[in-house]
Amino acid sequence: MLECEPAPDGFAVVLDRTVLFPEGGGQLSDTGTINGAIVKHVRETKGKIVHECAAEFPVGGRVTVQVNWTDRLDHMQQHCGEHILSFAFWKLFNANNVGFHMNERMVTIDLDKEVTLEEAFRAEDLANRQVWENRPVTVSYLPHTEVNKLPMRKKNEKLTGILRVVAVQDGDICTCCGTHPTATGVVGLIKITKIEKHKGGTRVEFLCGRWALEDARKKMQCIQDASNMLSTKEEKVCEGIGRLEEEIAGLKEKLRAAVGQLQENEIKTLLQEAPVNAAGCKVMTSVKDGYEPKNAKTLFGKLTDIPNTVVAVIYHSGERVNYMFGLGEGAEGDCRTVIAKANELFGGKGGGKKESAQGGAPYAEDWKEKAEQMIAFLRE
Ligand SMILES: [Zn+2]
Repeated sequence: MLECEPAPDGFAVVLDRTVLFPEGGGQLSDTGTINGAIVKHVRETKGKIVHECAAEFPVGGRVTVQVNWTDRLDHMQQHCGEHILSFAFWKLFNANNVGFHMNERMVTIDLDKEVTLEEAFRAEDLANRQVWENRPVTVSYLPHTEVNKLPMRKKNEKLTGILRVVAVQDGDICTCCGTHPTATGVVGLIKITKIEKHKGGTRVEFLCGRWALEDARKKMQCIQDASNMLSTKEEKVCEGIGRLEEEIAGLKEKLRAAVGQLQENEIKTLLQEAPVNAAGCKVMTSVKDGYEPKNAKTLFGKLTDIPNTVVAVIYHSGERVNYMFGLGEGAEGDCRTVIAKANELFGGKGGGKKESAQGGAPYAEDWKEKAEQMIAFLRE
């Protein structure tokens, strides 16, 4: 134990050597324990490997460091899979991996070329063949002059001195500081989950090993649930959704026609029964519970098209109560006075012009009583 300093979430521990890999080169940090105390992150700062540890230890003492193997294996599978898949894209399509990101259950590489889905599948096939052949993965330390002679996927001329070279037999060779299994079979499976255009190239999302297995499991559950909901075979789920979409479009059209018909009937009744105010205008009012804003607007438009009317449409939609006031051609009045009264009554906001105004307020239980008061005010 060389250093042990208090840190925001425990202690920052530096040891003379460690089995825990610090986050770097696109690979996530190992997790583990020091004498049984949790280490949740390891980082490299100014040449030192700092363990974020839950417990304090005396400097100078001897400690036992253990790696969390589940996490390490997950990370190695993704990381080594990235080598193999990048090699496949490079070998087949001369597409270079120019960016690598790894998060929990999410791994991506950015290629400097556009590739099609079919091409991505070809690279995926080649990569998985290399996994199934269980090719040895070796690590060697070579001077940069030797390294530059190798048929490397990614050359970095800036690196000098002794370099760490990671090589898959008859496959990927590159300089890398990460952790790797001793053979490609450990990767288990390389599965591309998505490709999309990205900065003139392609972003490839993929998962390897256990993460790929669990992702496939989740998707299987998803497609099974969908197939049960649609009462159709799994391979016909998309067809089923298409049918539902068609059905919904048909129903929407019918609903639109029915609402239109209802509005026409309502307008007829209002024309016969609407009271006349002091200025001699018909007061046409409609109060609706659970009404679509689109339908309310249509009704309001139809009512204000009638000359010599004072119109109010007040409706509850979701968490809101909305109100619209308008004057038909030739009608006397001022909607600005009306909206001010409504804002005050409902505790809402809104405004407009002399001929038309609208606003809304948060839903309240007694909104219908307030609507009645508004109507009484309009009838004066
Ligand atoms: Zn590597």
